[in-house]
Amino acid sequence: MSPKLQPVRGTHDILPEEFEKFHAVVTRARELATLYGFREMATPIFEATEVFSRSMGETSDVVSKEMFTFQTKGEESVTLRPEFTAGIVRAFLSNGMQQHLPLKLFSTGSLFRYERPQKGRQRQFHQVNFEWLGDDSWEADVELICLAGHLLFSLSGKKGCTLLINTLGDQESRARYREALVGYLAPYTKELSEDSQRRLATNPLRILDSKSPQDKKIIDGAPQITHYLNESARKRFNTVHEALSQKEVPFFQSVKITPSLVRGLDYYTDTVFEFVAEAGELGAQNTVLAGGRYDGLVEQMGGKLTPAIGFAAGIERLLLLTHELKWSKLNDISIVVLPFEEIEPNVVLYIAASLRNRLLGWHLHTKRRCTVEIAWRGSVKKRMERAAQSDVTHLILLPPEEANRESCIIRYMKIHEQQEIKIADLFDTDKLAKLLEIPTK
Ligand code: ATP
Ligand code: MG
Repeated sequence: MSPKLQPVRGTHDILPEEFEKFHAVVTRARELATLYGFREMATPIFEATEVFSRSMGETSDVVSKEMFTFQTKGEESVTLRPEFTAGIVRAFLSNGMQQHLPLKLFSTGSLFRYERPQKGRQRQFHQVNFEWLGDDSWEADVELICLAGHLLFSLSGKKGCTLLINTLGDQESRARYREALVGYLAPYTKELSEDSQRRLATNPLRILDSKSPQDKKIIDGAPQITHYLNESARKRFNTVHEALSQKEVPFFQSVKITPSLVRGLDYYTDTVFEFVAEAGELGAQNTVLAGGRYDGLVEQMGGKLTPAIGFAAGIERLLLLTHELKWSKLNDISIVVLPFEEIEPNVVLYIAASLRNRLLGWHLHTKRRCTVEIAWRGSVKKRMERAAQSDVTHLILLPPEEANRESCIIRYMKIHEQQEIKIADLFDTDKLAKLLEIPTK
């Protein structure tokens, strides 16, 4: 096969079987979003490059190495979104949403980062994303982190993940810490990785996030931000940590204060957090979900000072985490109408249209998933065999003799029983509902 017919490196097709699971994860996230009072919105898949470069920080890994950026024919520089937050804040400002604060917003969709593909790391990937704008309270931090934990707990079906938290402090604490960190790292400059040497001048905190083994050794002895917090930043962090350590919150296994957790982007302040899966579950990519407070971002992007906190979880990683979940199809109804050759096609189309109309109403009411298909071609025997091998629950057979009597046969595939019924009963809502109930033996 020509290489052009393969998906581009780092992208993948989501085939129907996989999509069922993918959809189940998004549905669960959406249900939790509703439960916690978040409303869904969507932003474009690409934005002016500046939206990301200015907000996430020119020196961040994402902006400096990972963005898919291109020129449009009008010579504008645009970038495929590598994350949701910057686009949502842009939308918040473009649409004058300030007057509706506080806002809780949920989004989901594709993101793009030019990274080395590996298990749980793609160039096109997907996230569910939550942002809460306009609330600077520590209670908002706790509530949002509980929502994140709840999502993972409800998907992994067992004890959930481990929560890592840290604080980056307010600006004053951060400045003092930055000074101390540079003082500590400067003598090691030559031993640091090239990236980190560069960061020492531009953004030293980011060195703590380095994945290079040679940096890690040096980082281990670095001063910790916890010791540089001013009174109010320390108090806030302790309160958040204490509230999350309550035994009554059952959504995660444990809470670990992790001083090296700085997150990769410029806009974070105060509380930052990640949820990690147990070692081995996701290979090297064990961070499933990550987020933090970004009180300065809205102002930095040209709006009024607006406190905010948010998180995102990678759907591909959630799927790796949820491999044990049974993706049960809840009481689905799958009907196949099987006409014999002699039956006038328009009659068959009419029966199917009527069934679909009633079942759509029923689906909207009960949320049970319904399918109505017509098995048109091939021998009757072949079509029956095919129905028997699939998940069909009800087969509606239209043989000519019965049709002459204005009857048909309904066969309950799961229990191998059938009965002759009037075709007219299929058009009667109450009778149809009774007919579709699968009798128990
Ligand atoms: P990492 O340290 O793994 O590169 P990150 O800090 O770049 O993660 P964030 O920008 O915080 O990740 O994104 C939040 C979540 O999105 C991650 O925890 C992960 O689940 C998911 N994610 C990020 N990048 C990718 C990717 N390239 N492929 C798949 N999922 C990803
Ligand atoms: Mg990354």
